[in-house]
Amino acid sequence: MSNFSSSISDANLRRRLIIGSISLAVAVSIIFIVVAYRLSSDLAESIEVKEFNKQFRWFFTELESLNRQIEDPEQLITAVQNNPVFQNLESELVAVEVWSNQKLYKVLNRINAADMINELASIGESLEANGALKYQDQHLFWQFQRTPGNTFSLLLVRKISSLDQALSFIANRLSITAFLTFWLAIWAALVMSAVITKRFEENNQKLTFLALHDPLTGLKNRTYLHEYFNAEVNNSKPLRQKIDQEQAAILMIDLNKFKDVNDIFGHATGDELIKIIALRLQAVIGENDALFRYGGDEFLVWLNLDDSRDVMPFASELLNCCGRPVPLANNQFEVGASIGIAYYPQDGEKLDTLVKHADIAMYHAKKLRSGFEFYQKQLPVFSERHVLLRGQLTQALALQQFVLVYQPKVSLPDGKIIGVEALARWQHPLDGLLSPVDFIDLIEQSGAIHSFSRFVITDAIKQAKLWLDAGTPMPISINLSVYNLADPELVTFFQNQFAQFKVPAELLEVELTESASMTDIKVTQTAFKQLHELGVKLSIDDFGTGMSSFAYLRELDMDFVKIDRSFVASMLDDRRNELVVKGLISMCQSLEKNVIAEGIETAEQAEKLYELGCRIGQGYFFGKPCFASDIKTVTNETSV
Ligand code: C2E
Ligand code: CA
Ligand code: CA
Repeated sequence: MSNFSSSISDANLRRRLIIGSISLAVAVSIIFIVVAYRLSSDLAESIEVKEFNKQFRWFFTELESLNRQIEDPEQLITAVQNNPVFQNLESELVAVEVWSNQKLYKVLNRINAADMINELASIGESLEANGALKYQDQHLFWQFQRTPGNTFSLLLVRKISSLDQALSFIANRLSITAFLTFWLAIWAALVMSAVITKRFEENNQKLTFLALHDPLTGLKNRTYLHEYFNAEVNNSKPLRQKIDQEQAAILMIDLNKFKDVNDIFGHATGDELIKIIALRLQAVIGENDALFRYGGDEFLVWLNLDDSRDVMPFASELLNCCGRPVPLANNQFEVGASIGIAYYPQDGEKLDTLVKHADIAMYHAKKLRSGFEFYQKQLPVFSERHVLLRGQLTQALALQQFVLVYQPKVSLPDGKIIGVEALARWQHPLDGLLSPVDFIDLIEQSGAIHSFSRFVITDAIKQAKLWLDAGTPMPISINLSVYNLADPELVTFFQNQFAQFKVPAELLEVELTESASMTDIKVTQTAFKQLHELGVKLSIDDFGTGMSSFAYLRELDMDFVKIDRSFVASMLDDRRNELVVKGLISMCQSLEKNVIAEGIETAEQAEKLYELGCRIGQGYFFGKPCFASDIKTVTNETSV
């Protein structure tokens, strides 16, 4: 796989670092040379001058005492010329002038010294003077001394040749040192830039890792998937043109009951669960394949295929990983998963399409409770819409796009409205009013069922309050999902809402489908008991479809049984269904439960049900679900 997403080019950084360091090295070297040259030339000059002074003094003392001893100054000149100091220095001396007995003797006269040395005139009373001057590009140094009575004086002018030598020597050394310093600096720059670049690379790698991985599980994330897909597809291009077969499969894994764990036991437990499942999945993923955390409880596997027959056993293995109980916080969680599978390139050449199709297949697997499903072209129209709606759910809840409509329940003997059932609708900004058939499943799966049901409860109680205040109290039944029963805060929530809106609990009924109430009879019993204690009435909805036994019905403490509309619809055409309805009604009567017949669309159906002993009906014949404000109008027009 290619190395990607490195935000800053390392080569660029390295180049800049090296150029910077070299410039610094050059600047430091230049400063070093200049300063060192100055210092050493000053030093050399002062050493040489000191040395010259010493020789001069000695020379002066020598000559002065000689001068006192001899008569003829000419002898003095010879003496000067024979003096070893003079001989030693001669090559460097340019002028030697002696003043004796009011007479000037030019012992050496390479330049006209006294004329050049202007300062001599201004020396005045001082006995000694010296200085430097430049003559024909030569550095010269002069020294002058006289006796206090001005009987004898000596002026020497000499080249400072050894200074030049010393300086060129120093310059040589300096340039070698500078050269070495320069290379040392470059070497240091290279080492430094390598170290810095390495640090930078490490940090960059860390950042890249963070951007491409999920912090909780350490698995690759969605962003990584895009990069991975591009790399995989580019790699397999030649292969793709050759063989027309499945090259890879995308497996979308969605945990079935994760949302419950999260809602009921908290996010920390939910996170732990995800981590354990991630580890288990990772353990079965091969080296050439990849596992991604796609969303909250969604994982995605990219499986490279040699043989498409490998997919099924692999999917089963994944299911097995998710199905094994997870020990957490003294509990055993069995979450289970549903997997949707889409083949590359058959089910999509683009990643988005592939993922969408795997998602649709996963949705089917969830719906059919079949574990895993392969994507099929016939399925998508319905499911694609679900996938779309699923993505919009959270926002819909936040934007309060859900409303309640109400359908009357009437007393069959006189057609009077005795209550209403609240039915949810999604006011979709594009698709209009959506039926719960389109979204309840999605809400249940998305984990939003608790907040959704809280909205339904509050909205229904508010409406009950409006009717109560208007002097026409109206019992309202609401539908709850099986997941709501697992919500430990549900009963308290009801209680608080009744208190807040000052509505008696008796005005509210809860409907739970027969199959939902059968899921865990103990949980249902407890919930029913608690709701009953509050004063809330209870109905078993869609009765007859759940195949529950008579004995089971007795176990539950409910007020109403709603006979499913499928029996009502076929009752008049099918004698057997009429018998079933008759049986259901008499069974409920023997248990002293009120029977409500659902889905009554004709007067005949209503009459027949009445004949069979049913006293409450609901259906389009009496009124379709409508907004609360329309309820009265509907009831006034109908009667049996
Ligand atoms: P349900 O509780 O059995 O609600 C009755 C459904 O039958 C309603 O469909 C209603 O419009 C429809 N219906 C009523 N009379 C007739 C009739 O004469 N003929 C026919 N063919 N249909 C009739 P709706 O509103 O689409 O609701 C469908 C299901 O969605 C409901 O079935 C209920 O199980 C669920 N549901 C509705 N609202 C909620 C809610 O707030 N929460 C939960 N958890 N489920 C809800
Ligand atoms: Ca219902
Ligand atoms: Ca029903």
